[in-house]
Amino acid sequence: MHHEIGDAGLGLSSWGYPRGGMGAVSDALKDSAEEFGAEVRTNAPVERILQRNGRVTGVVLEGGEELEADIVVAATHPRITFLEQLGREELPDEFVGAIERWNSRSGVVKINLALSELPDFTADPGRGDHLGGAIELAHSIDYIEEAFQDARRGEPARRPFSDGVIPTVFDRTLCPEGYHIMSLFTQWVPHEWSKEPHREELEAYADRVIDGYGELAPNLKSAIMHRQVLGPYDMEQDIGLIGGNIFHGELTAEQLFHMRPAPGYADYRTPIRGLYQASSATHAGGGVCAIPAYNCVREIRRDRRRERLKERLTLRNRG
Ligand SMILES: Cc1cc2nc3c(=O)[nH]c(=O)nc-3n(C[C@H](O)[C@H](O)[C@H](O)COP(=O)(O)OP(=O)(O)OC[C@H]3O[C@@H](n4cnc5c(N)ncnc54)[C@H](O)[C@@H]3O)c2cc1C
Repeated sequence: MHHEIGDAGLGLSSWGYPRGGMGAVSDALKDSAEEFGAEVRTNAPVERILQRNGRVTGVVLEGGEELEADIVVAATHPRITFLEQLGREELPDEFVGAIERWNSRSGVVKINLALSELPDFTADPGRGDHLGGAIELAHSIDYIEEAFQDARRGEPARRPFSDGVIPTVFDRTLCPEGYHIMSLFTQWVPHEWSKEPHREELEAYADRVIDGYGELAPNLKSAIMHRQVLGPYDMEQDIGLIGGNIFHGELTAEQLFHMRPAPGYADYRTPIRGLYQASSATHAGGGVCAIPAYNCVREIRRDRRRERLKERLTLRNRG
């Protein structure tokens, strides 16, 4: 259901490619923020969030630099924000319990391929519109189910599911002329793989994904010049996706709407005044949709208006 919300201009359930890749989206956001006077700092991990008497006062970066702020918006996984950057004793027990129980498992493996030529599918040879769409390795419902059940048994899928795209069919800025990039979103490996790299097993799993596509496009294997295989462990270690979950927490019924990420705190506020949350662990969840940030800013502006009104009333009453 969640994936039906994509709307890249062709109505619901349509997805698009940003020209220049996903980095171009970050660059556009940065440029826009700078136009409004923001200073953007990268490679500056936050180690601690500071608060006094339940009100946020700033953050401490790795290395010790302290930044004062009366508003802090966290877009990190809730376990990082609330269980690492704050102390449990600084938060209500019930809230800490909810964050500890937050399910953030995943069996996703991302495979990026650099290709010397486009795959040539025997079912539809040559170049055609099909190369610009989603190229699924999902022969039947049983095929997908078996891949999932393998992972439930604690084994990587013998015949994995894959959702593949070739963005370079449309966007020639991503690699040199004549070459292509194929990006594969694949499932499933056991979610416990977030604890260890499982490097060799991941490579063997990637071989099986490529064999699967090779059955449909025999030239694919020899066209691969380089490949990158990222499992749940890499996603947790490299980009802070705890458990490798791409949405900062599973999009299951008990983790949606008023329970995302915790009952009583689904309005982008947190138990610390001035500390807001806008990660995918808030409503409306993951995907590059910007809804959490949009809603969060709306709530911040509401709180500021309320605070200003309160200050004015206090002054008037004193005067
Ligand atoms: C393999 C994969 C495929 C996906 N495919 C799609 C897709 O096709 N379409 C789509 O719409 N979405 C897709 N998504 C989901 C989408 O990328 C996420 O939902 C989205 O990026 C979430 O945005 P966010 O700002 O909440 O979190 P993130 O993008 O995870 O940003 C959180 C940031 O916090 C940083 N961080 C972590 N710890 C700290 C710290 N201590 N201090 C400072 N910063 C820190 C991280 O480095 C990261 O940059 C995919 C995700 C993955 C992993």
